[in-house]
Amino acid sequence: MSTPYEATRAWAQAADAADPLRAFRDEFLIPPHGDGQTHYLCGNSLGLQPRAVREAIGEELSDWGELAVEGHFRGRRPWLNYHEFVRDDLATVVGAKPIEVVAMNTLGVNLHLMMVSFYRPTPERHAILIEAGAFPTDRYAVESQVRYHGFSPALSLIELEGDEPNGSISMAAIERTLAEHGERIALVMLPGVQYRTGQVFDLKAIAALAHKHGCMVGFDLAHAVGNLPLQLHDSGADFAIWCSYKYLNAGPGAIGGAFVHERHATATLPRFAGWWGHDKSTRFKMGPEFVPTPGADGWQLSNPPIMALVPLRVSLEIFRRAGMERLREKALKLTGYLEWLVDSQLGDVLEVVTPREPSRRGSQLSIRVKAGREQGRALFEYLERNGVIGDWREPDVIRISPTPLYNRFEDCLAFAEAARAWAKS
Ligand SMILES: *Cc1c(COP(=O)(O)O)cnc(C)c1O
Repeated sequence: MSTPYEATRAWAQAADAADPLRAFRDEFLIPPHGDGQTHYLCGNSLGLQPRAVREAIGEELSDWGELAVEGHFRGRRPWLNYHEFVRDDLATVVGAKPIEVVAMNTLGVNLHLMMVSFYRPTPERHAILIEAGAFPTDRYAVESQVRYHGFSPALSLIELEGDEPNGSISMAAIERTLAEHGERIALVMLPGVQYRTGQVFDLKAIAALAHKHGCMVGFDLAHAVGNLPLQLHDSGADFAIWCSYKYLNAGPGAIGGAFVHERHATATLPRFAGWWGHDKSTRFKMGPEFVPTPGADGWQLSNPPIMALVPLRVSLEIFRRAGMERLREKALKLTGYLEWLVDSQLGDVLEVVTPREPSRRGSQLSIRVKAGREQGRALFEYLERNGVIGDWREPDVIRISPTPLYNRFEDCLAFAEAARAWAKS
């Protein structure tokens, strides 16, 4: 059978030369390796630094130095409403209306703040549905919320087991679980992309199903934001949360984000409040009574951390120019090439864990060494020594993530060549 791919440098370089997005790579700092550069395939864990960030932070430092408190009003980008400078681009990246998104806090904090409003257990309806093997923070957060409300995780935490080979979860399994337990589920809390398997979830179908059973629904988009074109508003989800240091390239520990669907924009939902969530027009009257700003902004606690918002602003500007649709188009090709390389060049030693249908995965392939965990660790370390950077997730998964803003077909080939050299050694 003929394929569009070849495992040669000439083919990879030609594909890179024909890539309409190739110039974006130059806007990032690629970590060095020896005299050259790493093949950085780890943007799902920590995205690379956009070159423009350093100068942009310098501008805010200058304003602080020269204007001090006046920077809130007279800075080149006044700090008072600085979070609004990222709002429109953030809304575009997640497919939401501007009033539905806010950059604030970090993922774990936002998850708790959202659950304060959207997890309101009653004696009849008290359970939270998550996926088995969820990211630890999500597991800890939901379990602690269950306990905080006086319920027990043994009865009120339902974990969806993977029912497909390699551990991914079918829509049918979600339907079955909701049919069986829906009446006692208060909140369905699933990922956009599962961090270990790389499986993409159908947010709209899940939200519709959850609502049909009377549950609230929230999504953790840590591995989905900046990776897949999202339509959060249309999905109908009640809320979503994410971090910005993975595909969004906003730097280590970057400021996180939250989405609250427009239908809750003016509802007086219970929440943990702070002065920055107060109605903007009367915030500085400093009155005792909390009046929430409509929309996601109403969940802010503190005045925004300017230095943390700068890299996000810079990064989102790059996303605006690249466009999520074009990025997705390239991601499908890059990931398709990586998959083909693994199957055709390494099929005897490696297996792909991530779903094979392109629509059910993003820019990440989770790969397992067939010979087991020990050999998996050995390959992972060999790759690292040779400048091919992926990451390791227990018990036995190497995640390789060619991201369309700065990765090349050549990086995928470099992975395959290094893995081949390791297998021969
Ligand atoms: C990366 C990630 C986190 C990290 O949470 P922080 O609060 O940003 O440290 C949480 N959940 C998932 C699913 C993740 O992928």
